[in-house]
Formats: sequence, structure tokens, C-alpha cells
Amino acid sequence: MSPAGGLGEFELIGRFFDRGPARHAQLGIGDDCALLGAPAPGESLAIATDMLVGGRHAFDDVAPAALGHKALAVNLSDLAAMGAQPLAFTLALALPSADEAWLAEFSRGMFALADRHDCELIGGDTTRGPLNVCITVIGRVPAGAALRRDGAQPGHDLWVSGELGAAAFAVEERKQGRPLAEEDPARIRLDRPEPRVALGLALRHLASAAIDLSDGLAGDLGHVLERSRVGAKLVWPRVPVSGPLRALPQERRMRLALAGGDDYELLFAAAPENRIAIEALGERLGLRLTRIGEFDAGDAVRILDERDRPIAWAGHGFDHFA
Ligand code: ADP
Ligand code: MG
Repeated sequence: MSPAGGLGEFELIGRFFDRGPARHAQLGIGDDCALLGAPAPGESLAIATDMLVGGRHAFDDVAPAALGHKALAVNLSDLAAMGAQPLAFTLALALPSADEAWLAEFSRGMFALADRHDCELIGGDTTRGPLNVCITVIGRVPAGAALRRDGAQPGHDLWVSGELGAAAFAVEERKQGRPLAEEDPARIRLDRPEPRVALGLALRHLASAAIDLSDGLAGDLGHVLERSRVGAKLVWPRVPVSGPLRALPQERRMRLALAGGDDYELLFAAAPENRIAIEALGERLGLRLTRIGEFDAGDAVRILDERDRPIAWAGHGFDHFA
């Protein structure tokens, strides 16, 4: 970024992003490349990139600290979904201007989450332009232990973490001219999602497949079905619906819980013999884990009630069922 408002590119990086010698990396911020040691024998690196674009993701009224948190959280969520341990990340940032108060808050929100997961910033790029935050995260996972989308088998249980729909509820309320207060629980779910890293690590030996819920339960389950070449039955009354949704009419509640995005919970498959261990894991983590259905030999999702009767639902994401 060319100097503006007295703050040049290198001063900006030094003040807001460079926090001194690297811990995991051999060389961090300040050279042409960062240097990471090769993974230990028997280990794989897990790498994911997720980008937040100003306006598009409706972030214009989001606190910069929340934006910093979310930009990293959605990436850590991808590591969680693979059962990978966070290691390091890079940050490519396009900014309309070098606003120091904004940068201080953005980096505070981002590093607070990074430090909780011992994930260090090792490099990036900074340029002037419409707001764009692109993070690439690097994690490690024992080779062969990663939780892929293609491991679900007929007869395996279908599980989901947490409660669904609150983030989509917050988006919808804002679109309809009723923006929620920043401290509203649904708004917190949207602005500050909690990546389920500890869950992902613990599921390495319990789950056969996993995905994080960024686009909605129905669509993301569809990705697992496609990759695993299986079908699934989803028992709608068992789906853990988030508090703010419970009083809503059934149609809207179903749409938000099944097709609403941005929850960043984990959806996973596991053999029935792991049920007790998974329930114990949920208690240990203080995280609700709910068995919401079962994979089968079909090629589609069937949405059923507790007595196996089909429930009609034609919301968004339905094409993923085809
Ligand atoms: P180059 O010209 O080689 O691309 P830059 O001048 O863009 O290098 O960046 C200088 C150093 O600062 C590099 O080590 C780069 O990784 C780091 N860096 C640039 N922007 C960021 C950022 N937003 N966050 C972290 N590190 C950054
Ligand atoms: Mg550069």
C-alpha cells in the first residue's frame, strides 16, 4: 500500500501484524517467504483458504474486531472439519484506507482467536483496494487420520454439533430491516462463530467423515453424500434448532435450520459403536452433539419425522438432494 494518512505499508505491517520472532515457523514476517519446517514423518499438512469480501458478505456494519475474528474463524473451521491441528496462517488484506483505529481492532479480534489456538501469522500481503480479507491457514494431521468428506458408509450415524440457524436468522432479520443488536446471541453467532477445533481433533478416531457447516445443513450434507456415494435419512424433529428459532413458524424454522449458512458447526458420520464415546466427548467439551439421522445406501437425503414419515420441504439447497 502506498503511504496514506502518514501510515506506510511496512509501518502498518510492523504495527498491527508483526509480533516478533516466529514460534512454529523457522522464519515469519519480514522476508520474501516464511519458512516452515517440513512435516514430521507420518504427518500431513492441511491447507485451506477462505476469503471475506466487503459488502458481499454484508460486513459493512460489523465491528472490525469481529471481522478479524470471523476471517480467521472460518479458516480454522475448515481445519476443524479435517481433524487438523492449527499451526500457522497468512493474511492477504485489501483496504480502502489505512485506518489505524480499524486496523488495531481488526488485528486484536484476529489475534485473540489465533492465540487461543496457538496459530501464528507468518506472512501475507497488504494492498489498497475494496475491503477484502483472505486468509490461508496451515494445520497438521497424522497422515491417513484426516476427516474427509468421502468416508461415510451406509449404517453410520449422522451427527451435528451445536445448534443451527441463528446466524442465518441474524442475516435475514437485517435484510428485512430489523438488524439485531451487536450483543444479541444470534448476532454473536453470525459475527463471532466458534471454530470447533477441539471437536475435530477428538473426532479423528471416532468419525468416518466430516464437513463444517458454512452453507447450511442440507447443502453441506449433500457434499458428504456426493463424495461418499451414499444417501441419508435426516430426522427433522431431532435437528438441534437454535433458541431464537424456536418460536418461529415451522416453514421459516426449517428453512433457517436446514438451509441457513454461517453456523460453522461440524456435521459428521460415525459408526454406531462409537455412540457412547461421542456422547462422552460432547460432555467433556461442553458442546451439544446430536444424532440427527443415519447414512444409507441411497443417493439422496430423505427428511423424515420420528416415525419415518416423509416431511415435505422445498427450501433452498433442495437441488443438493437431487
Ligand atoms: P513482497 O514484496 O516480497 O511481497 P511485502 O512487501 O508484500 O513482500 O511484505 C513484506 C513482508 O510482510 C513479507 O514477509 C510479508 O509476508 C509480510 N506481510 C505483508 N502483509 C502482511 C499482512 N497483512 N500480514 C502479515 N504479514 C504481512
Ligand atoms: Mg507482497
